[in-house]
Amino acid sequence: MKAIYAEAPYVIGIRDIPVPEPREGEVLVKAAYAGICGSDLHAYHGKHAFRKPPVMLGHELSGTVARLGPGVSGLALGLPVTVMPQINCGACAACRKGRPHLCENRIMPSTPGWRGLGAFGEYFPAPASVLCPLGDVPLDLGALTEPLAVATHLMSRIPRDHDENLVIIGAGTIGLLLLIIAPSYGFKKILITDIQDENLRLARELGAHAAVNVSREDAVAAVKGFFGPQGCENILVAAGGPDILEQAMEMARPGAAILFVAMITAPSSFVSYPIVYKELNILGSFNYTLEDFASAIAFLHSHEAPIRRLISRVMPMEQAASAFEILDRKSEFAVKILLQMS
Ligand SMILES: [Zn+2]
Ligand SMILES: [Zn+2]
Repeated sequence: MKAIYAEAPYVIGIRDIPVPEPREGEVLVKAAYAGICGSDLHAYHGKHAFRKPPVMLGHELSGTVARLGPGVSGLALGLPVTVMPQINCGACAACRKGRPHLCENRIMPSTPGWRGLGAFGEYFPAPASVLCPLGDVPLDLGALTEPLAVATHLMSRIPRDHDENLVIIGAGTIGLLLLIIAPSYGFKKILITDIQDENLRLARELGAHAAVNVSREDAVAAVKGFFGPQGCENILVAAGGPDILEQAMEMARPGAAILFVAMITAPSSFVSYPIVYKELNILGSFNYTLEDFASAIAFLHSHEAPIRRLISRVMPMEQAASAFEILDRKSEFAVKILLQMS
């Protein structure tokens, strides 16, 4: 089968590799669409924490059940599915505490535990336990389940007693998905920031009450101008540079939560003073659980039209190299690019 590899930094290649055999408890999925994620781009740059070239990429996919491995039954061939690209052990302290996404023995695609396979191939094997039926969600949209589950997981981390005001820093795929689902979580007043006007225009069309270009405007002043001088109680960080924590702390009202989903690797220094005197909650949000995948699939049903607007292009897998170049060079406006795998 054809499989897309980051062969070296900035080099995408298509290899011919054997179709994987589904093992005990596994299902072989025939891929339909696969989304290119920011983390695939990190790997393309040679900067991903564990996906180092040469490596097969991809973890956001939709497809259909093609073969059942030994011990698997009850799944119809041709069933439209997506895969939660994360296998947990069920036995470690995190798993026992009901936090499978923080499993100490977690297995992710492109690692030896997943036989080095990523989702950018014509077929992808996965344990039946992480297979999620898509129902009547169209397959192209189904490839957005994974980033949407990142967004639903983050929403589940916001303290329940918080108010209805929300700042979203970053209007990329995750920021825009957060924006689309935020009203369903009770948020009524949403300000979003980015450095690209086109992303902000889309954010406005998708319901943002304020969309601020922080390459021209001061983010903290904009937030205080919009929500009042105390700032905002809920700040989601879906993009940003080294000074983003300090900015977020400045725009946070007392008792606020600042939730990071962006993986900012540039070192940053900060003073603890605002964390203490405003009693801030600085939280992270990592990946998702099967419950988040279920919520994400429900949102794909109920919010198909707005979520579809994030699919900027669908390109055949043979054009993966150009797709990565578009995203890397920002040579055209693109939120999510899907590769058509078959
Ligand atoms: Zn992803
Ligand atoms: Zn575990």
